[in-house]
Amino acid sequence: MSNFSEGWNQKMKILVILAHPDDPEFFCGGTLARWALQGHEIVYALLTSGDKGTDDPNQDPSLLARIREEEQRAAARVIGVSRVEFLHQPDGFLFPTEALRKDVVRLIRKEKPDILVGSDPLNYYPPGDTRVNHPDHRAAGQIVLDACYPAAGSPVYFPELLAEGLAPHSVKELWMSIPDRENLEVDVTDTWKIKLEALHCHRTQIGDPQAFDQRMLARHTSDSTDENPRYTERFRRIRFQ
Ligand SMILES: [Zn+2]
Repeated sequence: MSNFSEGWNQKMKILVILAHPDDPEFFCGGTLARWALQGHEIVYALLTSGDKGTDDPNQDPSLLARIREEEQRAAARVIGVSRVEFLHQPDGFLFPTEALRKDVVRLIRKEKPDILVGSDPLNYYPPGDTRVNHPDHRAAGQIVLDACYPAAGSPVYFPELLAEGLAPHSVKELWMSIPDRENLEVDVTDTWKIKLEALHCHRTQIGDPQAFDQRMLARHTSDSTDENPRYTERFRRIRFQ
């Protein structure tokens, strides 16, 4: 897949909507860095600010949220992202509500992306059978999917948004990261180091950076070696016609 081409012959605007600070880099940071290097414009929108990203019951959640927003902005700069938005939903309790669908429709109509990146709502059990997916990742995926189609592109959904001057907008492609069943695996060997550097910005989340690097460097494909590692990120890619 190292010869993979997205088939895009113009600069794309890419909107990444995920649950938590650090999700963009963990789920698809290598691909996002690749797109930034290709000159595409990337905007992040995080639905929560990760205020439950700790095991310390004495940690002040609003302080942690502020720290994690700063970590996310720093990581986004490393990837080459132009802007980061936060929707300030409560960490751990994302649900695909009508209100959130409308918020995301508003965001899509405002930003007018060509490419929308989310997370697969069908992923309950990540590969390896050693953990389960975070419910926010599934909920965020459902919210993005349901906002993308049909609401964002249809004038009869949320007519009050038309009154705000937000015309319907349909994206060209949807890329769902951490898919339950991928239809695309992108070789991100060339940008794996950038992904790691960006992940290092999430200091509250990664523990000891050296041990973290060792774990991440070991995540090469099974057909490659420690000496000549190859790294990939998986997606379910939908091209609307
Ligand atoms: Zn997450």
